[in-house]
Amino acid sequence: MGKKALQIKAKLENVEEVKTSGPEFRWYLKFFCGNCGEVSDKWNYVSLSEPIPAQRGNAVNHFVMKCKLCSRVNSMSILEDSIKPYTGVNDQEQFQTIAIFDCRGIEPVDFSARQGWIAKAVNEGKEFTDVDLTEGEWVDYCDKIKEPVGIYEIEYKFVSVK
Ligand SMILES: [Zn+2]
Repeated sequence: MGKKALQIKAKLENVEEVKTSGPEFRWYLKFFCGNCGEVSDKWNYVSLSEPIPAQRGNAVNHFVMKCKLCSRVNSMSILEDSIKPYTGVNDQEQFQTIAIFDCRGIEPVDFSARQGWIAKAVNEGKEFTDVDLTEGEWVDYCDKIKEPVGIYEIEYKFVSVK
């Protein structure tokens, strides 16, 4: 399976950066079993703050799942250094990698943004720390720059990386 990068694209209004809130952030994913092809129908979350020690060695997993269909035990971990903000300054509306998952036997096929995002307004504006992207967009007003701020038209995809 290897490494899978989660890339997002969004239209930003007066927002220069969107990022996850920290290690507690929950990445809600659906997984595909590489052994039998089963796609999980429920959302699972993975979080850097909830590591699961691997059975051997020093490896750390953030998710371990026994496939319902073929019973193979699959796992994955979040690569901490891969977590990056989505920035709207130079690359507006281009897919950018915001996290990379190291997958063993499974791969993520679906992502749900939900809660726990931080959005920073342009021109030294406010930092909004409880941004909820559950509805696929977010709108607020920055009283420092006296402009509306928003995140719209979020799209995402997974790509294989080395
Ligand atoms: Zn399976």
